[in-house]
Amino acid sequence: MEIPFVDLSANYERIQAEVDNRMKKVVEDTAFIGGDSVETFEQRFADYLGVDHGVGVASGTDAIFLALKALGVGDGDEVATVSHTFVSTVDGIVNNGARPKFVDVDPDTYTMDPEDLEEKISEDTAAIMPVHLYGQAVDLDPIKSIADEHNIPILEDTCQGHGSTYRGEMLGTYGDIACYSFYPSKNLGAFGDGGFVATDDPELASAVRKLREYGESEKYQHEIVGYNSRLDAIQAAVLNGKLDHLDDWNSERRDAAAKYRDRLENTPLELPIEAEWGKHIYHLYVVRAESETQRDALQNYLESSGISTGIHYPIPVHQQPSYQELQCSFERLPVTEDIASKILSLPMYPEITDQQINAVCDAIKQFYISA
Ligand SMILES: *Cc1c(COP(=O)(O)O)cnc(C)c1O
Repeated sequence: MEIPFVDLSANYERIQAEVDNRMKKVVEDTAFIGGDSVETFEQRFADYLGVDHGVGVASGTDAIFLALKALGVGDGDEVATVSHTFVSTVDGIVNNGARPKFVDVDPDTYTMDPEDLEEKISEDTAAIMPVHLYGQAVDLDPIKSIADEHNIPILEDTCQGHGSTYRGEMLGTYGDIACYSFYPSKNLGAFGDGGFVATDDPELASAVRKLREYGESEKYQHEIVGYNSRLDAIQAAVLNGKLDHLDDWNSERRDAAAKYRDRLENTPLELPIEAEWGKHIYHLYVVRAESETQRDALQNYLESSGISTGIHYPIPVHQQPSYQELQCSFERLPVTEDIASKILSLPMYPEITDQQINAVCDAIKQFYISA
C-alpha cells in the first residue's frame, strides 16, 4: 500500500463544490485584489481566534517579517527564539537587521524551554518569539512572566497551530502579536501561499496593514516605505470555504494520533506527548528513534514499503549554511542538536484511514523485529 505523507487530494474531494463556487465567484466578479473575500476571511478568522484585528498577508514568512517590523525590531536588536523550527521563523529576524538569540527546547515537547530563555535574555532583547511546534502550544505562562519582567513583547509563531489551545485559550491570542501561515499542507491551508497577522493592538494592526500595501494610509498617500504582501483574493475564498471545517479536521487528526499511540506504544519509539496545558492538533506526528542510525534505517525501511515520512527539521537553523555567514557565533544547543538527529514525522492528515495507520504501524513493528 502506498501511503503519502499528506494527502491534499483527499481533502479537496471533501470540499470541492463549496470551494470551487467561492473561487468562481471571485473570478466572475474580477475581484482579484482585496475586496469581499479577503475582508470576510480576515473578520471570520479574527473572530474564530478571538482577537480584535486580523490582517491577511502573502505568506507566513511575510507575516513574521512584517509583525517584527511593526514591533519596531531592527538594527542592533536581538530576538529570542528557537533553532528547532522552520527556517523562516528566524529569517524574519535577520531580514529586519536584528540577530537571533537561540533558546534551547524542552526535551519532551520540543518547544522553547523557559529556563533557558531566562539565561538568554539581555539588554538587547527586543522581542521573544516562541514557536508552537507540530500543533502543540509552548508553555506560555513562564515565558510571559519573563517577558513582563523585562517589558519585552511576545510574537507567537502560530504557523503550525491553527485551532490549538493553551489553557483553554486559542493560540495566537496570548502574546502581543501572532503569525499564521496558510501554506497548503498546514492545518488550515490555501491553494497557494497565504499568511495572517493577529493582534488585539490597533496600532500594530494598522502598522502591518500599511506595510503590506505599499506603506499606504490611503490611496497614493504613502506614510512609510512599504511592501506588497497581500492575502490573495482567490486564496481567501478557499480559506473561507475551509474555515468551518477546521475544528472537525483537527479532531480527526487527534483521533489518528490516538490510534498511532495505541499501536506504537510497545515499540522502542518515543511518541509525542500532549502537555497538560494545551490541546495538540497534530500538524505533524513526530516520533523519536534511539539514534540517528536507527532513525535513518527506519525511514529507509518505510520508504521501501511505500510509506512516505519527513524530518522536521533535519538541520537546526543555527547550523544552516545561511546562518554561518552571519557575524555572530552561536552557542551549542544540546537538546535541539540531539533531537534533530532522531526525529521522524509519520503520515498525518485528517483523511488518513485506519487501514493506512495500521499499515504504517505494522511496517514499523516489522522493522524492529527484523532489526
Ligand atoms: C510554515 C511555517 C512558516 C512559514 O510559512 P510560509 O507560509 O511557508 O511562508 C514559518 N514558521 C513555521 C513554524 C512554519 O511551520
